[in-house]
Amino acid sequence: MDTDACVITPPARALLSVARTSQKFPVRRIYCVGRNYVAHVREMGGDEARDPPIFFQKPADSIVLDGSSIPYPPMTRNYHYELELVVALKEGGRDIPVAEALDHIYGYGIGLDMTRRDLQMDLGKSGLPWEAGKAFDHSCPCGQIYPVEQVGHIQEGSIRLTVDGETRQDSDLSLMIWKVPEIIANLSKYFMLQAGDIILTGTPAGVGPVVPGNELVGSIDRLGTLRVQITN
Ligand code: MN
Repeated sequence: MDTDACVITPPARALLSVARTSQKFPVRRIYCVGRNYVAHVREMGGDEARDPPIFFQKPADSIVLDGSSIPYPPMTRNYHYELELVVALKEGGRDIPVAEALDHIYGYGIGLDMTRRDLQMDLGKSGLPWEAGKAFDHSCPCGQIYPVEQVGHIQEGSIRLTVDGETRQDSDLSLMIWKVPEIIANLSKYFMLQAGDIILTGTPAGVGPVVPGNELVGSIDRLGTLRVQITN
């Protein structure tokens, strides 16, 4: 980019650390999947039919790195965590077949789909876009990316979140309704995927509120931990 020709300083691009290297994974878009674990669908009052996956996006600059403090967001009284497996793409495409989907993955990580639940629910009930409930500042804490060459493909294993040391979410990735290759195949019907896109693959049951002072620690087998602190 010819930055001298820009009338303002070009915004920085979010960069995630790649585990066990000094390299970075630059993020283009953040896609998220809704309602992808039966127990979470139930706790949100939905039924368990295998409806087509729900997709939404967060802005790429909503990423917060591991170890950060994040301010309690405005315009909510019910700020929730949702711990999720993150898939990072090294290659994009449209109408990607399920059987070829894994070949597009660079690596995996841990993410938090932070949510202003009261806004999400009120907007949803009114048939309005979720945007303000999901796509706000600091709403996507994300850990390091572990390349497939280090950890293989992550299809099962523990996914667990603690708040101040107390377990709040404790499930297994194998309980996803839509598996990672199916998510990529489906998503690529709607959007032209590209290298640099990351996908948050949905949260298991146990979502709940946090307040300033809470420390959240997410962990997924083979993917280390993601730690954030909520501040005023
Ligand atoms: Mn989510």
